[in-house]
Amino acid sequence: MSTQKFKSVTTLLTILLLMTYHGAIFGQQYQCSSLDADPPPVNCGSLAHYVPGETDPIKTVRIALHVMQRESPAAKDNFDENNPAHVAYLNDVINRLNSLFSDCNVQWCNGAYLQTPQEPDDSRIRFDLTGIYYHRDDAGYNNEDGSYGNLYCYDNYGVCKDEILNIFLCQIADVTSGYGPSSHVMLFNLYDDYQQYGPNWWGHGNLLGHEVGHVFGLNHSWVSYQSYPDMCQNPQQNGNWCYPGPNATNCTNNMMAYSALNDFISPLQMARMHYTLIIPIKLRLNVA
Ligand SMILES: [Zn+2]
Repeated sequence: MSTQKFKSVTTLLTILLLMTYHGAIFGQQYQCSSLDADPPPVNCGSLAHYVPGETDPIKTVRIALHVMQRESPAAKDNFDENNPAHVAYLNDVINRLNSLFSDCNVQWCNGAYLQTPQEPDDSRIRFDLTGIYYHRDDAGYNNEDGSYGNLYCYDNYGVCKDEILNIFLCQIADVTSGYGPSSHVMLFNLYDDYQQYGPNWWGHGNLLGHEVGHVFGLNHSWVSYQSYPDMCQNPQQNGNWCYPGPNATNCTNNMMAYSALNDFISPLQMARMHYTLIIPIKLRLNVA
């Protein structure tokens, strides 16, 4: 992306919610500190041509997870390759990412779910986990300077950068959060969240989906309201913490919002991601 505007990190309201949804328990709200991508270079009329159909070919994106651990002899303080529960959780997060992109929820808008069966719930985008890498590196553990945009992990540990979307799990002095520039994804403090709330693969998978959405060219849903008119959210409803319910008329469940339920992907958002993926990834990810 040529013009990059960094969104300031706002204070997270760490509110514990427990709710059964899609058979999963999710815990808390997550913060995204990603830059807002440029608006789509196509208008909605032409973008509509990229809305996926049920029989359209699936685009599979190869991904790699990198777990940044403390150096020996200190404890790893992050997910451990020798702990089967940790490894299962990491795989579950990726499974949730795939279920979000293959069977997303319907849209929550103006206090109710909209029953629009003609809209696709399958983005026709899938993710193939090529490997989980574990790195004992104190600098990488903290993402070097602890900032969201530091490229230490990406520069030193990213694999096959022109073919694989590299995802890094670090621990920094901030909240559970993510960052999604065009080249890679950073996820912060998932291990802390895991220890405190348990294996919330559903919420963490949605957070990962949000960041992947940024990588694939999506703005936050309130920013791009004018570009994606099928979104419920308007620019005044940035919804840093909103929780869909009967009285939540200003709330959304859009994947690109800050909502309790980020499990809806609009048709035009799907289209925008397909449009981005048509661009050769090695050109798009060449940000050095
Ligand atoms: Zn974001």
